[in-house]
Amino acid sequence: MSDSDITLKEEELVEQEFQALLNDYSQSIHRQKVEIIIKAYHFAKQAHKGVRRRSGEPYIMHPLAVARIVIKEIGLGSTSICAALLHDVVEDTDYTVEDISNLFGPKIASIVDGLTKISGGVFGAQASEQAENFRKLLLTMSEDIRVILIKIADRLHNMRTLEFQPVEKQYKIAGETQYIYAPLAHRLGLFNIKTELENLSFKYEHPETYAEIEQKLLLSKEAQLASFEEFAAPIRQKLTDMGYEFYLSERIKSVYSIWRKMQTKNIPFEDIYDLLAVRIIFTPKPDMSEKDQCWMIYSALTGIYKPHPERIRDWISTPKANGYEALHVTVMGNNGQWVEVQIRTQRMHEIAEKGLAAHWKYKTGVADETELDKWLRSIKDILEHPEPSAVDFLDTFKLNLFASEIFVFTPTGEIKTMPQGSTALDFAFMLHSELGLSCIGAKVNHKLEPLTYVLKGGDQVEVLTSQQQQPQQEWLDYVTTAKAKSALKAFFRGEDRKYIRKGEDMYAHILKKHNLMEQQEAVLHRTMRFYNAQQPRQLMLQIGKGIISEEELEKVVLPKRKSSWRRFIPFISNTNEQTDDNLVTDNNPETTDIPVSNKKQLVLTEENIGSKYHIAACCHPIPGDEVLGYCDSEGNITIHKRNCPKADFLKSSDGKNIYSAIWETHRQNTFIDTIELRGIDRVGIIIKVINIISQDFKINIHDLHISAEGGIFNGIIQMYVYDTTELQQLCDAIRKIQEIQSVQRISNI
Ligand code: MN
Repeated sequence: MSDSDITLKEEELVEQEFQALLNDYSQSIHRQKVEIIIKAYHFAKQAHKGVRRRSGEPYIMHPLAVARIVIKEIGLGSTSICAALLHDVVEDTDYTVEDISNLFGPKIASIVDGLTKISGGVFGAQASEQAENFRKLLLTMSEDIRVILIKIADRLHNMRTLEFQPVEKQYKIAGETQYIYAPLAHRLGLFNIKTELENLSFKYEHPETYAEIEQKLLLSKEAQLASFEEFAAPIRQKLTDMGYEFYLSERIKSVYSIWRKMQTKNIPFEDIYDLLAVRIIFTPKPDMSEKDQCWMIYSALTGIYKPHPERIRDWISTPKANGYEALHVTVMGNNGQWVEVQIRTQRMHEIAEKGLAAHWKYKTGVADETELDKWLRSIKDILEHPEPSAVDFLDTFKLNLFASEIFVFTPTGEIKTMPQGSTALDFAFMLHSELGLSCIGAKVNHKLEPLTYVLKGGDQVEVLTSQQQQPQQEWLDYVTTAKAKSALKAFFRGEDRKYIRKGEDMYAHILKKHNLMEQQEAVLHRTMRFYNAQQPRQLMLQIGKGIISEEELEKVVLPKRKSSWRRFIPFISNTNEQTDDNLVTDNNPETTDIPVSNKKQLVLTEENIGSKYHIAACCHPIPGDEVLGYCDSEGNITIHKRNCPKADFLKSSDGKNIYSAIWETHRQNTFIDTIELRGIDRVGIIIKVINIISQDFKINIHDLHISAEGGIFNGIIQMYVYDTTELQQLCDAIRKIQEIQSVQRISNI
């Protein structure tokens, strides 16, 4: 063959490919703007003239192939087809974006510009470079989604022709495809493209395993197809009887998805039973909703084959975030094999096949925002708050691409899509950044849960907020969504500074006012310890934000005053005093629903408690509690609560030595008692509780244990109180603190 023969043959090949493109276009639903496509083709062809791909083909074959993917597999129109034809012109030739703009208009030029900017690929030599490229990719995507769709088409063709690249380049391109492009395609609803990208990546990353599985698949293919025909026959009959226009299609799992299943379930190829999936695609009748008709077909199908009770997926009531709708059911075929059947209308099918573009086609001018629109908006949000560490950004964003989704409900029953692993705090940020920043917890299915609660599908979540809430650094560990992370980081960077400065001023003012400047180091240390602040800036931030009031701060800063301790009765003393004369004749039998001797009743007074009568250490009753006395063999009388387990034992074993008892105390002595509190953890909350106990009630605290986890704190406070009335009033007062969820007296610690 001579050189000119080759050129002629190639010329023919190129022309054929172009005609195929025009043919694809003419069959699409788009307005027929053929002239501009012809113009773009000729322009690109002469711009790339004389250049060949590694495969040896004329270069123009690549833009043509990309343009065909754009129309046929993604369903985009003439603007995108032109941009696809021209996508490598600016990068590889001397033409500029202005040239494109002059010839084809600003819209096509800006898409080509976007494609040129991200042509470097995501994987640069260094992590920071990768991240920067990735940011560019997202930026162009949020400006015009068509940029990323064409980029995906470009990548798909490069993957289809990867065999011509040297091995080290194959690895790089395959890795990048697996890492970024397949998840992106998934997110954009391009299911077929995603599957193909994953499969091709796998082929180049694990060539031997790929070949092995492919071989086995080939061998079982015939059997699978035969069983499909057998399986489909009664379904076809039934749907015809129902009067539906429909078709059935079968799909064999991809090599990659088989391999993934083998890996995750740790099973051999032979144990994968659902190699075959069947689709029922039908044209719905006009007088009934699509959803109802899908369920009618479901009902017909399960009348023929037995469904797997746990494997129904209703993506119609709640479509996936990428817009996917269908009803999935797994049924048992005649040969005892499980077969997944997907029931879709024609419209749902197109969305499933072409993703986003089909979405737009079916959007009938209603201003309703799809999940995809929301996702794109969230990308813009993130890009508007660029993080200093681009690598962090890449990580958090990538996480979101990979995560599978769950559905959760708002209190009004609205459905929200969240990545799996999202916490209550993520949910708050998803609704609104302000909600996230002021979130104190959530009611999940009407139960109080901390910020860290990991959401489960179907949870109903109500976000609880407070004006005084202050995001903490550790919150970054509680969130997984990119939106929450970037909002928090933006907050920590920006907002804090001015409050810290204000706090420092207030603090200095108080020190000066009380002449504490000379001891400022010790004072600062003490104050920080009091508020559990790790760094001065944390403390200053709380002061600056007014969470610690000036008044409160003054009390903490000033040297401790001598407190007036109350007199207190110990539980047990070792006295062996005679007790006979303390027994009095019973004349007050009103409290006796238990087998307590009502012959004699003990009267407990300030004077005899602790000397004649001892307070039991097991249940330590205080005045106001229903009590009884037990007289042991040596004559010592111990006072127990009536519901004390030990008293129960004594009642049954030694009932004759049990005496009823009443209190006649006059608030002179105090008794130790313990309360437990639970609430939302926040700096300043402990001081609020302590203020009520010691300032308002003048109660002395004996011991205090606070533990906090995931934004919920638990406190156990031992203190000296006069009686149950005082304790009750105290608990009521503490309960009024907004963040406190529960306060209760506990008997045994
Ligand atoms: Mn290209």
